[in-house]
Amino acid sequence: MSDKVKAGSGAVVVSACLLGRRCRFDGRDKFTPELGVVLEGRHIIPVCPEELGGLGTPRPACQLQGGDGGAVLDGRATMVDIDGKDRRAEFLKGAEAALAEALAGGATDAILKDHSPSCAVRQVYRDGALVDGQGVFTALLQRHGIAVHAENITKMPSRRRS
Ligand code: SF4
Repeated sequence: MSDKVKAGSGAVVVSACLLGRRCRFDGRDKFTPELGVVLEGRHIIPVCPEELGGLGTPRPACQLQGGDGGAVLDGRATMVDIDGKDRRAEFLKGAEAALAEALAGGATDAILKDHSPSCAVRQVYRDGALVDGQGVFTALLQRHGIAVHAENITKMPSRRRS
């Protein structure tokens, strides 16, 4: 694990729903064509951590309870679905599997879907409200030194590995 951000030179992990994969909880996508320009010339690693965690699509909507993604990683918060079922294990499994793909592909950056319980970058649904915070996968990537950007990014940073 590294605290240093390696932004700028390697592959880019991207939330698969932003690339048009219908992997959201409701079976839909969040295709964002503007990312085509942003990602030009970069190797792309599409991932959906919730599918990798075995949750399936469609799946019950989930939200954080008691803390954000980092707190889930530390065991200080959990993740519940709309039926009240604890889904922390699936979220952790999916985040770890997606991280493995990111590291194997040499990722230095990620562009993820904000507001998602896995992929949120700036704001996330927690305890019934949209609040500042990150999703589980985002927190895990950041702990491994990968620079995470929300989907409204207009230009990739040009920093080099440190
Ligand atoms: Fe998109 Fe991430 Fe949700 Fe999968 S987990 S649907 S990639 S936001």
